[in-house]
Amino acid sequence: MHCLQPINCNNRALRHLKKFESLQSEAELLLTDFQEKLQSNSSDVRFRLKLHASQREMFRAFSRKDILEAVTNGWVIEMNERSNNKIIIVMYFIHTGPKSYRPIHLVCVLNSPFDWEVITVYDPRSRSWWWGNNYSERICWCAEQLEEEY
Ligand SMILES: [Zn+2]
Repeated sequence: MHCLQPINCNNRALRHLKKFESLQSEAELLLTDFQEKLQSNSSDVRFRLKLHASQREMFRAFSRKDILEAVTNGWVIEMNERSNNKIIIVMYFIHTGPKSYRPIHLVCVLNSPFDWEVITVYDPRSRSWWWGNNYSERICWCAEQLEEEY
């Protein structure tokens, strides 16, 4: 699979990047504050997994430890707002062996600055044509035929 509408996707990618750039420092601050709170084992921090049934298979491909490691050490690649909630995508590379890393994306809903819920976990290589810049920038929105298989 590859991009089917390069002109449309390129234009969209430019708008997408511009929008993220305007939110990037806010998003990074939110993640940094959350990571510090997590590291301090503070009792007023909540981090939960709330995955849809269709996500379970993908979720199984990563351990809870992988997910925790990713949110603790990862960085923001996207932020969006959905009905008053901020949605942040955190990216990380899980170390899988000598010189071997596996990319992971966590889609997190912020119920509050210190209450994050992971709603989707995936390996961006499963839709590699969607991503540029080492899986950190969305560059294509063309879907596969079997959307449900994802
Ligand atoms: Zn495309």
